[in-house]
Amino acid sequence: MAGSLDGPLLDRTGVLAVLNLVPLVGFPNFAQISDYLGVQVLGFQAAHSAIGIVVLMQAITHIATQMQHSTLDLQNHAHFWGLLATIALGLIFVIALFRTIYYEFVSKVHLLLACFLVVCLWLHFDTESLSSRFLLLLAGAAFVASFSLRTFQFLWRNLRSGGLGTLNRCRRNEETIKVMVRPGRSWKVQAGQFVYLWMPGLSFWSFFQLHPFMIVWWEDGLHGKADQLELLVEIKDGWTNCLARSVSHKPSVYLDGPYGSPVNFGDYGSVILFATGAGIASQIPYAKALIDGYMKLEVRTRRVILVWRLDREVNEDWVQSWMQKLLDLDEGSYILKIQLYVLSDFRDEEAANGKKREYGDHDRIKKFYASPDISSLLGEELSRPYGDVMISVAADGEVRDKIRHIVHQPSWTNQFLAKEVSNSE
Ligand SMILES: Cc1cc2nc3c(=O)[nH]c(=O)nc-3n(C[C@H](O)[C@H](O)[C@H](O)COP(=O)(O)OP(=O)(O)OC[C@H]3O[C@@H](n4cnc5c(N)ncnc54)[C@H](O)[C@@H]3O)c2cc1C
Repeated sequence: MAGSLDGPLLDRTGVLAVLNLVPLVGFPNFAQISDYLGVQVLGFQAAHSAIGIVVLMQAITHIATQMQHSTLDLQNHAHFWGLLATIALGLIFVIALFRTIYYEFVSKVHLLLACFLVVCLWLHFDTESLSSRFLLLLAGAAFVASFSLRTFQFLWRNLRSGGLGTLNRCRRNEETIKVMVRPGRSWKVQAGQFVYLWMPGLSFWSFFQLHPFMIVWWEDGLHGKADQLELLVEIKDGWTNCLARSVSHKPSVYLDGPYGSPVNFGDYGSVILFATGAGIASQIPYAKALIDGYMKLEVRTRRVILVWRLDREVNEDWVQSWMQKLLDLDEGSYILKIQLYVLSDFRDEEAANGKKREYGDHDRIKKFYASPDISSLLGEELSRPYGDVMISVAADGEVRDKIRHIVHQPSWTNQFLAKEVSNSE
């Protein structure tokens, strides 16, 4: 239809909307494509949303221009399918508003609506609109290619000599589950990587669900490839809750991944890793990799500070074994300092707010029964000449905003600049 009607604006907006649709339809798995492009998943997700809004704007302009030429005629093939395509596009945006609440439902409906949209657009274009149909074919081909590649990688990753599947062991705490997975095919794990877990046997709906989790710990076997992966799963309301109830049944687990573009922290003299709650799962692997790199003389880092704010003191148990392994790994080099900030439910009844505890040799673990004073913590670190400073944050919005606000203050920016200047001298 677009090609046969008058008006370059009508043609151009129609074709541009379909052109912008190609990457949206062609690459539905953000983790997969962002790895190929070497960008962070969140960055690609933001780009997907932004391009989606552009498509919507172009579609609206296309429809508005069309309305100037003629009124809507549902007997007209092109009008009918164009209307359905518009409804599908609108619905995609409406349901996106509920994504955080009903993540799984919304993501599946989003996919179905996107497929429906492509079919409607195909029928909307007449056979003379070859360029538009070619773009749709391109999007379809990219979709099939990326899906096939992911399926192949999935089979390859999980294939073992005895068949398909990976062994696993789960240990449940009050609020978390520690999942240990032995990959069918191992690889050299890098800090910052995550995998999707597929556990089809958990429940009927779990067959259709994949859930991402950071690789918190790994043990290297032969050829430096990881024999075992350890993940921390915080129990929420959906799939994770189902897993918590099935832990004793040892459900089979399959891995999709690894994904994630690891950031190189090893070029920084000091690395400060902030975490709140389950965010600790993202920071422990970086601490591990940096200590490991220090021992092998592969990084410039001379100081790693892991700052973790826990809501309840009992949450320490989530990661106790990994913290101990970090300390063991750091034995002799002593580049790691751990600071725990417990907010409530103190185990020690005498622990009053502000009280501090020190554990281990070289005071490598400090525990405070208070909120972290981020400003003075950063100030103390920046006053020591350890080279450039990297601050990594895996925390809730409040802490993230606070840190961002502090480091963007002119007085702080000057300190960062001063440090960079002194390093280059
Ligand atoms: C890259 C990445 C790494 C992650 N690593 C960890 C980790 O190491 N440990 C950890 O405990 N959690 C991690 N998460 C979050 C974890 O994936 C979700 O908490 C989990 O999927 C929730 O499942 P649920 O059905 O029980 O959630 P629900 O109770 O249904 O929802 C709880 C929250 O989780 C979100 N969510 C639900 N399903 C998914 C999904 N498939 N993908 C992403 N978010 C979802 C919902 O939007 C909602 O905000 C990570 C998320 C991402 C994107």
